[in-house]
Amino acid sequence: MNINKKVLSIIISLMFILSILSLITFIYNFKKLSVKIATAQAISIAQNVRDGLTAHMINETMDKRAFFLNNIAKNQKIENFHLLRAQSVIEQYNAGFYTESRSSKIEKKVLKSAKIQSQLIETFDSAILKISIPYIATSDQNPNCLSCHKAKLGDVLGVISMDISIDEIRKDGISIAFKILLVVLLILILSIFVARFYILPYLKLFNDLENGISRAYKGDFSYHIETALESEAGKVASRLNELSEIYKFKKTIELDENKETIYNRIVHIVQTKFDITKFIMFEINNKTKLRNIIFDTVDLNSVLLDNNASVCRAFRINEDVYSNDFDDICLNCLQKAQCYICLNFTINDDFSIVLHIQESKEKDIEKIKNLIPIIKNYFEMAKPVIETKILMNILKETTLRDPMTSLYNRRFLNELLNSNFASRVKDGFSHAFLMMDIDFFKSVNDTYGHDVGDEVIKRLALIMKESVRGSDISVRYGGEEFLILLNCTIQKKAVKLAQDIRKEFEEEKFVGNSKIFSKTLSIGIAYYPNDADTLNETLKHSDEALYEAKSTGRNKVVEFKSLKT
Ligand code: GH3
Ligand code: MG
Ligand code: MG
Repeated sequence: MNINKKVLSIIISLMFILSILSLITFIYNFKKLSVKIATAQAISIAQNVRDGLTAHMINETMDKRAFFLNNIAKNQKIENFHLLRAQSVIEQYNAGFYTESRSSKIEKKVLKSAKIQSQLIETFDSAILKISIPYIATSDQNPNCLSCHKAKLGDVLGVISMDISIDEIRKDGISIAFKILLVVLLILILSIFVARFYILPYLKLFNDLENGISRAYKGDFSYHIETALESEAGKVASRLNELSEIYKFKKTIELDENKETIYNRIVHIVQTKFDITKFIMFEINNKTKLRNIIFDTVDLNSVLLDNNASVCRAFRINEDVYSNDFDDICLNCLQKAQCYICLNFTINDDFSIVLHIQESKEKDIEKIKNLIPIIKNYFEMAKPVIETKILMNILKETTLRDPMTSLYNRRFLNELLNSNFASRVKDGFSHAFLMMDIDFFKSVNDTYGHDVGDEVIKRLALIMKESVRGSDISVRYGGEEFLILLNCTIQKKAVKLAQDIRKEFEEEKFVGNSKIFSKTLSIGIAYYPNDADTLNETLKHSDEALYEAKSTGRNKVVEFKSLKT
């Protein structure tokens, strides 16, 4: 059960228990009060009867008392009204009427104890108080009881009994109880209303915060808290949302392949989340102080785009620069852009990023100023990730390149051959594999030593690098074996390139043991998809063509297709 339902059910249960308790208390007390009122009424009737009977005695009209007693019973609407004479009175004045000497169990008790006895008899539709009241002989009344009765002070002279209906009072009680119930119900509804509108939004927020934090704790930052609250509580929710988005951003960029993808993501956030439309993002090499533009949307004429980053004040002093802080604060940006903010983020010793934001109106730049802490949070989160990507890139490069020639190594070639490189070939074109091996290279090592042999290898690598286009790939395949993979070329061009390299190498002069010498090169060529169905097979065929070149005289270029004819 969530906290809202919990609190609501607690409120309802409490109110319910409270209303039941107050009803029970009311009914209990009301019953006590009813009995008290009925007892008081009975006592009052008893006094009237006693005074009436005394008057009858004085006037010696006791034989007429029945009329008086019947009237009392009739007027007071009481049932079972009767008097009982004590034994001493019976002995002195006789037994009186039939009822005046016939005692019930309760009346006997009253005669004995001289105390009022009563009993409430309740059924569904009636409530009757049966009450018996003793007449006790006193001397402080006029006439004094003892002047007529042969009794002692405190003796019970008789008992008056009656049944008093408390139906009316009970009806009143039930009606009051219903009114109380109604008021309690109203209070209950009011409490639920107050809870829903004033307490529940806070509880919901608390609930959401609890959920959000526990999910974030498990690494899930996709939680977004919705609240209509605008108070401090609402701010807490929006901060948590902010935090959640930043962590989500971090999780996303951690899985990005390279820093360029992360830069693109930052650009996207600046545009969509912060709604900043005019900005330039620079990447600066801290060592060379050279900068390049990662992204720009502004009129580039408004900023001096010297690739020397030293002109940028934000980079130079490593502080945020606001155009409205001081006239012509940065000479690099003083042109037409009236308002700007430049933020510098140092990624590591080697790289920094500068974000240059422009607005034409001062009030708009002030709005952006308020967003700076959040923008900075994103960059702070991105910093270590970008640094890791740069290091990973360097590491990857070193594992994929040959340290002596800085050409790609065999490992790189294997990755390439197993990638989707094959699919990039266009119709009418081929991927050409130029497999080359220096002729009689072993003799260089044997005659001039290993260092001279290394020099020959480096020179060939240089010739290869200078001969190919940026899209072509040069690989040191083995000791003095090399491969050039021409990306989408015409076969004629591949042969021409192979011949050019062969000739250039042949013309190279090397020095060993104070002697000048030259070397030659054999090259085998195979084409994908013309010579084979797979790149690996094509590679094998280029090696077969190379073998053919070796075995047919060396210093030549042989195409695999010529072997088949
Ligand atoms: P062929 O014309 O048949 O290719 O004759 P070759 O002498 O070139 O024969 P092979 O290709 O078998 O010789 C390769 C030699 O290259 C053997 C090895 O000692 C040498 N070598 C391999 N890597 C290096 C290197 O990095 N530096 C030096 N100096 N020599 C290397
Ligand atoms: Mg060789
Ligand atoms: Mg070899």
